[in-house]
Amino acid sequence: MSERAMGEPECWAGIAWTADGYEAVVVDRAGRPVAVPTRWGAARVAELAAWLHRIGAGRGRELAVVLDSTNGLLDGPLTAAGLDVRRADPWTLPQRPAFGSVSAAALADCARRAPASPARLTPESGSLAGREAEFETGVADGAELRAALTAAGRCVEHGRRDRRQVALTFDDGPDPVLTRQILAVLARHGARATFFCVGHHVAALPEEVRRITEAGHELGNHSWSHPFLPDLTPAQLCEQIDRTAEAIARVTGREPSRFRPPYGSQTPEVLATLAGQRTTVTLWDVDSRDWARPGAERIATTVLEAVRPGSVVLLHEGAGDRRQTVLALPAVLAGLADRGLEPVTLTELLAPDPPLTAPAPALTPVAMPVPVPGPVSR
Ligand SMILES: [Zn+2]
Repeated sequence: MSERAMGEPECWAGIAWTADGYEAVVVDRAGRPVAVPTRWGAARVAELAAWLHRIGAGRGRELAVVLDSTNGLLDGPLTAAGLDVRRADPWTLPQRPAFGSVSAAALADCARRAPASPARLTPESGSLAGREAEFETGVADGAELRAALTAAGRCVEHGRRDRRQVALTFDDGPDPVLTRQILAVLARHGARATFFCVGHHVAALPEEVRRITEAGHELGNHSWSHPFLPDLTPAQLCEQIDRTAEAIARVTGREPSRFRPPYGSQTPEVLATLAGQRTTVTLWDVDSRDWARPGAERIATTVLEAVRPGSVVLLHEGAGDRRQTVLALPAVLAGLADRGLEPVTLTELLAPDPPLTAPAPALTPVAMPVPVPGPVSR
């Protein structure tokens, strides 16, 4: 079998993101349109996947979807739906606009002209397939600046180890189905949590965002489109943060004070840009690895084996098939209760004035406002 027959699809669906949602253009190997270009709201990803399947199935066409590296929201749900998804990187693409990805037509065209170039993504590989080493190098290079930000109270990975509290955090939402389910489980256990939402979903699902805050949980900023941050210019990164903060404030009346970088990207350049923003970089010390869908039992075990007082636990609610996370949640909450660990919001976890019997260590002065208990901007 030739390489072409093995790896090259019959048609390419370029999917772009814009401020309003997604646009899709499908062309065949010769660049001829296969379908009328369509637009999709960010909450209609299941319908988008069904539409792509219909085009792929029509007349026996083999279809591949191509996204760019500034879109980390679609590869999860589309690969989970069984579609062939590839990621095109900036050096293969024309220049992006200040806010938005490369156009759908340009994505489809670039993939069609150089079919071997986009990286194939699977649910197991995650969005950064083939760029893992670059990611790790960026994290290592950012260590010094991260330490400086941490010392200044502008970057946190966990809370104090001498309080029996932990923070569960749910990223990539809100989600049209799962947000409500997660809120119901948290309510049953009397637990509070923090939701790092993406602006693209916030704008499409304001009602779900409202539900989160009305239930007493917190909101954080997780960018607009879940990009691989090192691929953005500083201005593009600031645009992602600002637009998401505005979208959240339109629903809740308050801008969130925390930013979680997608994938935990923390190169010196990314951290330098974040240092100039009015936000606290919020990472985690316990990774549930729920995105890899290892089974609900495994997710709960991973969390409970690693969690300790002060932990910040990374979980997901959107941008993929997160049903296992919802199924794991009751066991996680029961396990925390067994260990005497109270799930609280990040503001509560990081509150500087601990109600303790033991003497508190001296607090490091901070350069920027840090969250305090009460109605801070969330
Ligand atoms: Zn994320």
